[in-house]
Amino acid sequence: MLRKAVYPGTFDPVTYGHLDIIKRVANICDKLIVAIAQNVAKVPLFTLEERLEMLRESVKDIKNVYVDHFDGLLVDYLKRVEAKIIIRGLRAVSDFEYEFQQALANKKLYPECETIFLVTDSKYAYLSSSMVKEIAKFGGCVKDLVPDIVAKKLYIKFRNENAK
Ligand code: ADP
Repeated sequence: MLRKAVYPGTFDPVTYGHLDIIKRVANICDKLIVAIAQNVAKVPLFTLEERLEMLRESVKDIKNVYVDHFDGLLVDYLKRVEAKIIIRGLRAVSDFEYEFQQALANKKLYPECETIFLVTDSKYAYLSSSMVKEIAKFGGCVKDLVPDIVAKKLYIKFRNENAK
């Protein structure tokens, strides 16, 4: 049986913290789908198309990783793509409560699914998409935090916004 996993998230934008999780999972499963969730309460900075483009460019050299997006419940998406493994990353204790609740809710809705948590690499323990946006907004350098395509898009986005 193919070990197919789904790594869902907002990826607004993708960071080296996400990419570290993606690379590590790609080494231990047959196929990984990185799936952008569209229906989250957060209002994203980047459009779905921009997030897809940045993710696709960032994972283009990893052969068993695919990028997709979904609307609605994650468990319905899992069933649609015939996957039973959900990947999530854990940074600080502050991630835990939310992740714990989500994993239990998904298990309730789809008992055959399993959520697997990967602990962040300590280098990226502090890194989040929100922090990257905050730094970029005020002109800070994000080149060690995100792939080049993301750094460029952040620069353009905030240059245009700050010019308004
Ligand atoms: P969501 O809005 O679903 O939390 P994110 O794009 O913010 O989506 O994150 C997707 C997943 O990646 C989450 O499980 C999050 O904890 C994890 N993640 C984010 N940043 C890091 C990081 N620096 N190290 C490890 N995991 C991370």
